[in-house]
Amino acid sequence: KLYNQVMDLKGNIRVYCRVRPFMPGQSDLLSTVENIEDGIISITTPSKHGKGRRSFNFNKVFGPSATQAEVFSDTQPLIRSVLDGYNVCIFAYGQTGSGKTYTMTGPRQLTEQNQGVNYRALSDLFFLAEQRKDIFVYDVSVQMIEIYNEQVRDLLVSDGSNRRLEIRNSSQTGLSVPDASLVPVSSTFDVIDIMNLGHRNRAVGATALNDRSSRSHSCLTVHVQGRDLTSGTILRGCMHLVDLAGSERVDKSEVTGERLKEAQHINKSLSALGDVISSLAHKNPHVPYRNSKLTQLLQDSLGGQAKTLMFVHISPEPDALGETISTLKFAERVA
Ligand code: ADP
Ligand code: MG
Repeated sequence: KLYNQVMDLKGNIRVYCRVRPFMPGQSDLLSTVENIEDGIISITTPSKHGKGRRSFNFNKVFGPSATQAEVFSDTQPLIRSVLDGYNVCIFAYGQTGSGKTYTMTGPRQLTEQNQGVNYRALSDLFFLAEQRKDIFVYDVSVQMIEIYNEQVRDLLVSDGSNRRLEIRNSSQTGLSVPDASLVPVSSTFDVIDIMNLGHRNRAVGATALNDRSSRSHSCLTVHVQGRDLTSGTILRGCMHLVDLAGSERVDKSEVTGERLKEAQHINKSLSALGDVISSLAHKNPHVPYRNSKLTQLLQDSLGGQAKTLMFVHISPEPDALGETISTLKFAERVA
């Protein structure tokens, strides 16, 4: 309840920052993160006169020791609102290696403790739906797609790479990609199977050196339909869980061909997303949804009554400082 009030005041957009811990073996490096306090993160920056410092303000900042459960805890109210018929978008933004997939899915060796937002969100959803079973009957189904070079691909069919899917106006059906597989699910186990399938299909065609997952956006969409048992009224809500392509800028002088094209597409779609969220946050009358496939896809779930949560990820290494600052500047614009 309180959360919803806060969200309304904030235009339904929240931005959280998460700092990845050092990787094993890096423990002797100095972090670029100098301080975290009350939603403010301070970054040490080298300057002509010694050490500089820049601070950025968020709804919340999670330090390197934050657990998956802590990171998820503030997300729970969003799950409730999906069951109430609202649309929700949860994004992971950041350079490759900063922990986006860790936040959304978890590490490679999944345990119950280190499961990411996707699993926790779905198990909460089923738990809450069960609690309401005397009042509502819920149907839950999922889609999983990838946007690569501004093309939409179904991740739940094995030959999906050959088919480009269209984005449609979803106001009637609730489906913005009506031709992508829509799989009914009734438990967290079902969802784990589906996500594994999606991850396998996503990896097809990618070599170790050419990891496509960092250069495409993946989106798991959970569609929820609830029927009020007394009035028969139908509520429809959906939740998009988006693991964005790596936000790192590539040096245009060093890349050519396919890699340059990928970089340009990523650049374009991440700035389009930034423009949309920033227009919404500043209550601009014109919201530029049409500028990328990603924002077209999410049009009905960004703005209006919909709720948005962006996890912005940074790496603590001094090497990453340039990307860290540009990530925080991006986030500052949308916050
Ligand atoms: P991205 O998806 O942004 O490229 P990953 O999520 O793959 O980054 O994270 C890079 C590496 O760091 C992975 O090995 C991941 O398991 C690890 N990692 C990321 N965030 C954390 C964290 N909060 N705690 C422990 N390990 C993490
Ligand atoms: Mg990743």
